[in-house]
Amino acid sequence: MNLIFLGAPGAGKGTQAGLLSRKLNIPTISTGNILRAAMKDGTPIGKEIESYMQAGHLVPDALIIDIILKRVQEADCSNGYILDGCPRTIAQAEALEAAGIHFDKVLSIEISDQEIIDRMSGRLVCEHCGAPYHAVSMPPRTAGVCDVCRSKLVRRPDDEPETVKARLDIYHEKTEPLKAFYAQRGVLAPVENQPSIEATTAEIEKILGI
Ligand code: AMP
Repeated sequence: MNLIFLGAPGAGKGTQAGLLSRKLNIPTISTGNILRAAMKDGTPIGKEIESYMQAGHLVPDALIIDIILKRVQEADCSNGYILDGCPRTIAQAEALEAAGIHFDKVLSIEISDQEIIDRMSGRLVCEHCGAPYHAVSMPPRTAGVCDVCRSKLVRRPDDEPETVKARLDIYHEKTEPLKAFYAQRGVLAPVENQPSIEATTAEIEKILGI
């Protein structure tokens, strides 16, 4: 089964993709994670993309297409995979199609901009081990300190409120048109965001019939 998660930044694509990945025993491919790892390792690609990522802008299509087409050829993808955060532009979607890759379902998590802004303003991450927290919905035991390794909790630079607004604008302009693209191909499945992670998962499982 080949699946895509579409949705605004902070919609919960990564969380739902991770849960589904374990249930279906297929990998999740997150271009955001691949790019962050490249930056952390200081690779030439990592250096090239740093300024785009920190400003919340999209990384150029050619680079993303190259990364993703190589990744889906790896052995662990032979039974299918879940794309999280990719494609994000029509050009990326067309490149996947041109490579003969088709998708069974494109799950589009529907959530309002205001809810995203409220959610992301509370998001925190451990600067050492990367463990995620949320000031309201998943607070650490001690404010500002990681439960796991006791290091400092910080806000990701691209979660700063101004950057979140810019990322939402980019989502509406460049990524949302993918809904029409996949609707035309008969694979778009809107997922109404639910009050809890579990309820959203239940809706996704119903759509997929699993
Ligand atoms: P994410 O973790 O999916 O929110 O991605 C974080 C950042 O990585 C985005 O704001 C972009 O700068 C970059 N990025 C991730 N995936 C893509 C993609 N498919 N196309 C372009 N840029 C991407």
